[in-house]
Amino acid sequence: MAELSLRNVRKSFSGTEVIHDVNLDVESGAFVVFVGPSGCGKSTLLRMIAGLEEVTAGSISIDGHDVTNTDPAKRGIAMVFQSYALYPHMTVEENIGFPLEMAGMSKEERRAEVRKAADILHLGPYLDRKPKALSGGQRQRVAIGRAIVRNPKIFLFDEPLSNLDAELRVRMRLEIARLHEEIGATMVYVTHDQVEAMTLATKIVVLRDGNIEQVGAPIELYNDPDNMFVAGFIGSPK
Ligand code: ADP
Ligand code: MG
Repeated sequence: MAELSLRNVRKSFSGTEVIHDVNLDVESGAFVVFVGPSGCGKSTLLRMIAGLEEVTAGSISIDGHDVTNTDPAKRGIAMVFQSYALYPHMTVEENIGFPLEMAGMSKEERRAEVRKAADILHLGPYLDRKPKALSGGQRQRVAIGRAIVRNPKIFLFDEPLSNLDAELRVRMRLEIARLHEEIGATMVYVTHDQVEAMTLATKIVVLRDGNIEQVGAPIELYNDPDNMFVAGFIGSPK
């Protein structure tokens, strides 16, 4: 059984359909990457999976349970955004622990959970700092830490590295690959960076104008793109 399933999912904004009848199965532990041009619907799909946006039609299930109309907090999903949305007045420790504080966890328990996440992300030495005293890569790590402490079954990433310079992007890409290996959670990741897609994905979903154009392992899409559009994204001309 797929961990995450989208069935005939559609989305309209003010009567204009931007996602058309999307069907997708994501296996547990997969690293699925959505690629496609700006405006093709990548963020909208992620937001519907997270429950931050209602579907106009169709259904979403997690572990076989229909979550289409379920509260985002109850889906076992954590989302990491491109803009890190850290609280400037809080330390790294408080930022990472914030979701746990909201969930009513005691300060002591929080401290232990934050430590674990900080260890995974090599943030141990920075727990007392405020975001303004961190580098871009460290801030992004804090945002990922805030997702990790929630112990989600599914991580959603919306272009998490696009605000970083090229060198940091490479380092953080490796960190994210390591994170996936280490915690084994299912990851759905949006990028328009071909190298990120090819190196991180177990499965790439190519989107175009609100439709899935092709789905496959990176090597399948590279060697056997269905059309020029897919070839253009994956880099092997047909
Ligand atoms: P991507 O993330 O691939 O760049 P989006 O999912 O952000 O694409 O957008 C897909 C389409 O939906 C675009 O045409 C965009 O303008 C439209 N759209 C996204 N969010 C909204 C919204 N809240 N209201 C109206 N239109 C939206
Ligand atoms: Mg987007």
